[in-house]
Amino acid sequence: MAKQDIKDLDWNNLGFEYRDLPYRYTEDYKDGKWQGGELTTDSTITLSEGAEELHYGQEVFEGMKAYRTKDGGINLFRPDMNAKRLNNSAKRLVMPSYPEDKYVDAVKQVVKANQDFVPPYGSGGSLYIRPFMIGTEPVVGVKPSSTYTFRIYATPVGAYIKGLQPMPYVVSDYDRAAHAGTGQAKTAGNYAASLLAGTQAHEAGYAGELYLDPREHKYIDEFSGANFYGIGKDGKFYTPKSESILPSITKKSILTIAKDLDLDPQETHIDINDLDQFTEAGAMGTAAVISPVGSLTYKGNKHVFYSETKPGPVTQKLYDTLYGIQEGDVEDKYGWVVKVDL
Ligand SMILES: *Cc1c(COP(=O)(O)O)cnc(C)c1O
Repeated sequence: MAKQDIKDLDWNNLGFEYRDLPYRYTEDYKDGKWQGGELTTDSTITLSEGAEELHYGQEVFEGMKAYRTKDGGINLFRPDMNAKRLNNSAKRLVMPSYPEDKYVDAVKQVVKANQDFVPPYGSGGSLYIRPFMIGTEPVVGVKPSSTYTFRIYATPVGAYIKGLQPMPYVVSDYDRAAHAGTGQAKTAGNYAASLLAGTQAHEAGYAGELYLDPREHKYIDEFSGANFYGIGKDGKFYTPKSESILPSITKKSILTIAKDLDLDPQETHIDINDLDQFTEAGAMGTAAVISPVGSLTYKGNKHVFYSETKPGPVTQKLYDTLYGIQEGDVEDKYGWVVKVDL
């Protein structure tokens, strides 16, 4: 695959796709320790055909963004939380941890080395950063790998869903993760498990699918790559409490923002039959930022929230506050923003 030529990029129409940028970071693990990392221009990985990751899915990943600020600087958002979560995911998949300060430093190196590819302020785009770790040992019997590769690539992306356009979603009959399974880990297998449901949802004209709790199929869990929230008729912010959902850093941040906005945030079970208790609903995640859910179809019945064409006022406010902090336009009272030294 050819390297991305910066002259070929239309900053206002980037979409959400992989582009081969000049630099990525890579570090191998063997003999019980990390061997030292470096930037490389090689966007390929050479693996044994027997590599653990290819057969038994020993992989964990992260998703982050770098945002261009008005003064031309570059912001990261809570990268320490991503470092911690990568290690929590790694623990679940019996993989080594990666030192948190080294993780943040490596992310900064990748952003700095590819800084020309961070979309301009105001374009709605950002540099998506994908740290990941894979088990590389050739194995036939099922056991954890003894060798690993940690890698970080980056690619410029546009708004995942443009502007704050409400989208139609459908409640899936499938599960993405089992109860007591790997739902709390950011790992490839959960996404592999979601591909059929996602494909069917898209073929039926939906933007994506919402999963219910895998034990009873009664409570809302999350979307395939974003957590769910609803704004209650009582004015409160609600988001599911579940052991099979990924602990979203966007969600965690929105819970804090919602408190500041007097929305009395609640993490609780949300019964799929109680949709009429909500005036607004949305999806939260690094890729999705905050995306209004226009409608949710459950067992053939379509439930419309605020509107199918425009975002509700609370969704708009949450988005403006979060994105404003990330881009450096709203005061960062909690110290969430980490600047990249250029
Ligand atoms: C990454 C991810 C999210 C969003 O997490 P953020 O930290 O907000 O980006 C939500 N659900 C799933 C399944 C994910 O993989």
